Amino acid sequence: MSKSLQAIRGMNDILPEQTPLWRYFEGTVARLLDNYGYRQIRMPIVEFTELFKRSIGEVTDIVEKEMYTFDDRNGDSLTLRPEGTAACVRAVLEHGITGGGQVQKLWYIGPMFRHERPQKGRYRQFHQIGLEVFNLDGPDIDAELIVMTWRLWGELGLRDAVKLELNSLGTSESRGRYREALVEFLSAHLDKLDEDSQRRLKTNPLRVLDTKNAETQAILVDAPKMADYLDDESRAHFEGLKARLDAVGIPYVINPKLVRGLDYYSKTVFEWVTDKLGAQGTVCAGGRYDGLVEQMGGKPTPGVGFAMGIERLVLMLEALDKVPAELSRQVDVYLCAFGEAAELAALALSERIRDQLPNLRLQINAGAGSFKSQFKKADKSGALYALILGDDELAQQVVGFKPLRGQGEQQSIAWDALAAHLATCVVQG
Ligand code: ATP
Ligand code: MG
Repeated sequence: MSKSLQAIRGMNDILPEQTPLWRYFEGTVARLLDNYGYRQIRMPIVEFTELFKRSIGEVTDIVEKEMYTFDDRNGDSLTLRPEGTAACVRAVLEHGITGGGQVQKLWYIGPMFRHERPQKGRYRQFHQIGLEVFNLDGPDIDAELIVMTWRLWGELGLRDAVKLELNSLGTSESRGRYREALVEFLSAHLDKLDEDSQRRLKTNPLRVLDTKNAETQAILVDAPKMADYLDDESRAHFEGLKARLDAVGIPYVINPKLVRGLDYYSKTVFEWVTDKLGAQGTVCAGGRYDGLVEQMGGKPTPGVGFAMGIERLVLMLEALDKVPAELSRQVDVYLCAFGEAAELAALALSERIRDQLPNLRLQINAGAGSFKSQFKKADKSGALYALILGDDELAQQVVGFKPLRGQGEQQSIAWDALAAHLATCVVQG
């Protein structure tokens, strides 16, 4: 195929074989968020470039090298969103829905775009479910976010495969003091740091902590610890969060090197990580960003949120064999009709059955065909039963009811009794 007719590298089609698992995952999350009182918000996929520069921070991987940025026809610089928080904050400010301390518990779902090196679990168009809470500043809400994800892992059967890592970055003042101490320490070892870390030391020193370079990691062992610089308020907040996680029985590890890639975090940061996906181990990440709304031109408004990567969680469900068996069957009943008169009756009958059983997954044969070819299609559809309507059945106002998966003999059922019969033998989702 010519190059122009291929999808862009790192941007994937999600084929019909895969969409049932995606819908199962998305549906499970959506139901859970509904149950905890979160409401969905939908933002555009494109925003002014300035929005991401101001919120994410100029010296982050995302803004420095990962954004899809282009000029609109009128010369405005636009960017395909690399994440959801910035647009969500923009939206709540624009519509004034966090004013006067109004609490908002919001979630969103959709594609995000980052120009990264595509590999398993890392793509250029990927999908997140994200969540943001505004105007609640206590550890209780940080805990709720984590408790909710813990419940999600439970429902999906993933609890044993994920681990919670926690850290506190403190307030911007205590982080500032820590940053100074860290810069002083690292500057004394400048020549032994890897190149990336030398650069980060000048632009975003906390990010040196999450280097993958072994020599730099060895130096970091003796570096000052963020925990020693935490102010009392942040310390109490962190203790409050841990007490709640303990109360529910959620295991966690404190990772003092967890700093997150974005500039805007304060106090709580957390990541759910797995060792089942190779290098792309973080499936859900977030934290508190009490300064962000003000930084973006709003009144001081505490905020906390997280985002999870749908591709990575879908990969995990597959890798760990946690795909529910019922997802493999999309059709309950396949209706075959032979001859023009029977086709008309079949269509009318199928609509009556749909009225009576709105959740029945009933596929009606299209394109006519011989007995043999229609049965082949019925079987291939995965249906549990075939319904058969030919001239004889039409004359008697019955259908042939044929189990396709070896559950008994074919029988004849009157049209009027069909819905009741199907209700007893097909478990409806
Ligand atoms: P990573 O360290 O893996 O690059 P990140 O810190 O850049 O992740 P966030 O911006 O916190 O990621 O996004 C939240 C989640 O979205 C990640 O934990 C991950 O599950 C998912 N995610 C991020 N980038 C990608 C990507 N390029 N492809 C697929 N999923 C991604
Ligand atoms: Mg990244």
